[in-house]
Amino acid sequence: MIQKPKGTYDIYGEDGKKLLYVRELIEGLMEKYNYEYFETPIFESSNLFHRGAFETTDIVTKETYDFKDRGDRDLTLRPEGTASIVRSYIENKMYGNHTVPTKAWYMGPMFRYERPQSGRFRQFTQFGVEAFGSEDPLLDAEIISIPVNLYKLLGLKGIKVNINTLGDNESRNNYRNALIEYFRPHLDELCEDCKERFKKNPLRILDCKVDSDLDIMKNAPRTIDYLTDYSKEHFEKVKEYLKSMNIDYEINTNLVRGLDYYTHTVFEVEASVEGFGSQNVLCGGGRYDNLVETLDGPKTSGVGFAMGMERLMTALQYENVEMPLIKNIDCYVISMSENEKDFAIHITNDLRLNGFIVDMDYCNRNLKNNFKNADKLNTKFIIIIGEEEKKSGILTIKNNQTKEEYKINHDDVIDFLDEKIVE
Ligand code: ATP
Ligand code: MG
Repeated sequence: MIQKPKGTYDIYGEDGKKLLYVRELIEGLMEKYNYEYFETPIFESSNLFHRGAFETTDIVTKETYDFKDRGDRDLTLRPEGTASIVRSYIENKMYGNHTVPTKAWYMGPMFRYERPQSGRFRQFTQFGVEAFGSEDPLLDAEIISIPVNLYKLLGLKGIKVNINTLGDNESRNNYRNALIEYFRPHLDELCEDCKERFKKNPLRILDCKVDSDLDIMKNAPRTIDYLTDYSKEHFEKVKEYLKSMNIDYEINTNLVRGLDYYTHTVFEVEASVEGFGSQNVLCGGGRYDNLVETLDGPKTSGVGFAMGMERLMTALQYENVEMPLIKNIDCYVISMSENEKDFAIHITNDLRLNGFIVDMDYCNRNLKNNFKNADKLNTKFIIIIGEEEKKSGILTIKNNQTKEEYKINHDDVIDFLDEKIVE
């Protein structure tokens, strides 16, 4: 038997319905925020990811799926969405001819060669947004409000918003130097990965999951103490705007999201539901005023986040969040013999085009088994088509709850069902 690859999963049944419900809610929310929907390829040229700033991250150094196609091109399955959106923004010259800011959103599969565990897959789905072209802290606050409002609309309660700031380039450099000074005498106490990070990107030491409980981590210098006046002001504004939207947050000075291109605001939203497990970060993001330039575009500021759909679905399950899922179908159509199938599919097609949820018998069941199947599908009405019904055009319709029977001319069936099915 062929099995799915390690670190992947199948979705079906009720879970499929729930996922579609959440996706629809996201689509609606993004419409309200006036963000544009983007789709980019699932594979990109390898050098979109394997370059400069990214080469200090685990995502790119240890986790990418790289391959050559039959034309000897180096390709990579995208491990995240931001680089592709920035590539698209630059390649399509949106900096010159698009709305400012350009507000983009996307949802799709990402691929990382990680050790699979709960909340961590090799193929997973991210919903993310990116906004280009404004340095205003209003946009940082708006970006943070998106996941918060999504969770609010869904009815997810146990969440915590953590924020921090890295400041502008000058603040970052001052902070970086302070970290180097601070950690240099403690190098022996750090894990092997952190020794490497010390050389390439010392900010990422604070991101370390192995060393996070060490005292030297807890007492490390804080970004907040190295901010320029402009950066302080920017952070104050973000906090003020979050308050204006009644969004609660905590400042977590060890939150750095170590990528070189991050500036100013960084944030994460975590699920604080008991028993959720250690993979509890639902989404993360921040401002990246250097990224577009890093990918060979004109200097353009940006801010965004990415959210893992799997962890969101798990959080909803942990909190037993109710979703208004459709559990019934409107109609089940039965043809009594081979001769009535053409009329049955005609009626079925017509009803579907008029907005009803309709299924039919495809298995030549006898009437008793058809009634059983109709119950299994939770149908509200059953339409039975025999020789007589086909000839006269007068259909036998049964209310499957009350068991009442009606004789309705097939021209009037839509009006009849419209009136009866009030939800
Ligand atoms: P983590 O620290 O959990 O590895 P990350 O910093 O690698 O997360 P990001 O690259 O910021 O995560 O991605 C944003 C979100 O995508 C995460 O908060 C998480 O919800 C989700 N995510 C990341 N990697 C995975 C994965 N392998 N499987 C499922 N979801 C993931
Ligand atoms: Mg990771």
